[in-house]
Amino acid sequence: MLRLRVTTAAESAVRSGHPWVFAERVREQNRGGQLGELAAIYDRKDRFLAIGLFDPDSPLRVRVLHVGNPVAIDSAWWRERLRHAIARRDGLFDAQTTGYRWINGESDGWPGLVLDHYDTTLVLKLYTAAWLPRLNELVDLLGGAPLATGRPQWPTPAPERTSPGDSRQPDAPDGLVLRLSRNIEETARTRFNLRDGQWLIGSRLESSIPFLESGLRFEADVVQGQKTGFFLDQRDNRRLVESFAQDREVLNAFSFTGGFSVYAARGGARSVTDLDLSRHALAGAKRNLALNSHLAEVASCRHETIHADAFEWIEQGLKRQFDLVILDPPSLAKRESERAGAIRAYSKLASGGIQCLKRRGILVAASCSAHVPAEEFFRALRASAKASRREFTELQATRHAKDHPAAFPEAHYLKCIYLQF
Ligand code: SAH
Repeated sequence: MLRLRVTTAAESAVRSGHPWVFAERVREQNRGGQLGELAAIYDRKDRFLAIGLFDPDSPLRVRVLHVGNPVAIDSAWWRERLRHAIARRDGLFDAQTTGYRWINGESDGWPGLVLDHYDTTLVLKLYTAAWLPRLNELVDLLGGAPLATGRPQWPTPAPERTSPGDSRQPDAPDGLVLRLSRNIEETARTRFNLRDGQWLIGSRLESSIPFLESGLRFEADVVQGQKTGFFLDQRDNRRLVESFAQDREVLNAFSFTGGFSVYAARGGARSVTDLDLSRHALAGAKRNLALNSHLAEVASCRHETIHADAFEWIEQGLKRQFDLVILDPPSLAKRESERAGAIRAYSKLASGGIQCLKRRGILVAASCSAHVPAEEFFRALRASAKASRREFTELQATRHAKDHPAAFPEAHYLKCIYLQF
């Protein structure tokens, strides 16, 4: 077995539950390890400390799977770990919400792996190449996973199965799509003949999968869409936006496929304006609004899309006024060195957003930058609000949704603040 010894600092980090061991913290190794192989970490006294997935090419050399007494990592162990992740979501959603996260990476004990559930389709997103040699094992495991929320209320068309004699359970997933983070795409293609957007179970001509969220109808483009096709992590914020939307004119900047707008429309908004740089996302926003036009509130809400750079559009400002402005940009700090610049960008964006607000208007500003701590983001936003010299009150400050647990500092990325002027 591959055996490692690590620095004292790494040893205590692992012991206290941190899931990453960086390459420079590996002191000794009994041999060169292979991609995806299990590596056992031993402590100073030569006692077993932890076991994890090894990646010889990544600065993140070991991703810890288990700490404590030695265990056999076999198929029963993986099955139990999956069961545990699914059981953790028990009772969080009813049949009105059929799109949610089943596995949130390290925080669920599956380092670098995300599993989202859209109705009867699963989307597996890998952020580390260490899973690639284990993909067949994963497909076997996930193909038998029980769908937790019973039958969906908004039926999807029957999928075409790749193998006609398929013997899967009726309540098992009928589709599984592989999504790959950009940094592992090349390894996946050249060494494993795998590509982003590939169907691993089932195959549909249509890449948009319908699902329900809080009773609203959405489609996720699970093959090409950003992340796994939808930003499931913003569900709780969308629900809050719905509760503030009555009679408001809403600007949804960085709208993606209009998630916030559909909720605002059901919440009684007079108009919703989606602003995004991606035409594909805006086309999705139109579809998502249309899918809900059977609801009177949605049908009577005006919808507009603007294809533009939101930073520029908002900075030009003052050309239009809204009662609710949502700012949900992509991550602005991908690394620690970008943190200060990100804070400045958030502040500038917020100042522009505030200028677009009418009296009693609400600013909803989110950050998904893991390198910007929540308190620093909130402070920057409050400072922008003060600098506007308008009276304001803070309505809410929110963090992670329950199906997106965050178990170590780097996993806390999402925060959102609601300010009324
Ligand atoms: N609020 C969305 C998620 C936003 S993700 C939801 O709840 O679903 C960030 C979005 O910002 C993406 O759709 C991306 O296309 C868009 N984007 C990135 N840079 C942008 C820019 N400079 N101007 C406008 N949109 C941008």
